[in-house]
Amino acid sequence: MAKIFCVANQKGGVGKTTTSVNLAAGLAAIGQKVLLVDLDPQGNATMGSGVDKRNLELSVYDVLLEEVSIEEAVCSSHWGDDGGKKHFPKYDVLGANRDLAGAEVELVSLQNREMRLKKALASLGGTYDFVVIDCPPSLSMLTLNGLCAAQGVVVPMQCEYFALEGLTDLVNTIKQVHANLNKDLKIIGLLRVMFDPRVTLQQQVSDQLKDHFGDKVFNAVIPRNVRLAEAPSYGLPGVVFDPLAKGSQAFLEFAQEIVDRLKPPQK
Ligand code: ATP
Ligand code: MG
Repeated sequence: MAKIFCVANQKGGVGKTTTSVNLAAGLAAIGQKVLLVDLDPQGNATMGSGVDKRNLELSVYDVLLEEVSIEEAVCSSHWGDDGGKKHFPKYDVLGANRDLAGAEVELVSLQNREMRLKKALASLGGTYDFVVIDCPPSLSMLTLNGLCAAQGVVVPMQCEYFALEGLTDLVNTIKQVHANLNKDLKIIGLLRVMFDPRVTLQQQVSDQLKDHFGDKVFNAVIPRNVRLAEAPSYGLPGVVFDPLAKGSQAFLEFAQEIVDRLKPPQK
């Protein structure tokens, strides 16, 4: 069975999609079979994987409404054969676009509405080593589907004062989901993103995070790096667009750290 985790933080613009896309590409780069699920109607993870959200024939929306299976709705990440990117391993994408905004309302009247994604993923068997779910910036029915389907949550966060406040809400939601809906769910770790070591406050918040959450804070730290911000406009994950950039290197380290953390204990 695949390791399934969602990248979640209800705060907007903290780096969830950048983390999801680069983690998917980073895991693929180290030989893992990966499915990236875009659970955000903004469709940024879809576009950032080189898949045009406007031309999606089938998307995560159709899967959540149980109209099609995941196998029918996935496509491959796309970076063509030009530009020297051909040798970068690809991953599969279950894409999203604005249709998904309607799912929030349509799901309300349906049974097992928070378990739809979990059920769909259960039919995949051993196709993937990892499923990475990019959640929208809210604690909505869509995010709830992500949390119910996953074994773990990766929380990207900027080391700013208000980041800690938002974290309390997220941790409480995760606890509630764990208690009532999904016994497997836990926080895999907190990922410091857009980090600038020259900013004293960021260092202080980073230290507070480590004091409070201990080894739940990933060792990998993603620096603020303009190459990561430029990559989506080329429809590429940063680690494919410019693998040697500092930010890309940090995401490759992070992918390896995830694999090491989730490795089954040696017999
Ligand atoms: P939303 O809540 O809207 O889904 P998000 O949490 O998914 O947002 P992103 O879209 O990943 O956040 O990032 C927000 C912006 O910050 C984007 O423009 C992205 O390119 C930029 N960004 C993310 N990470 C970095 C980084 N490490 N260095 C520089 N820019 C970054
Ligand atoms: Mg996003």
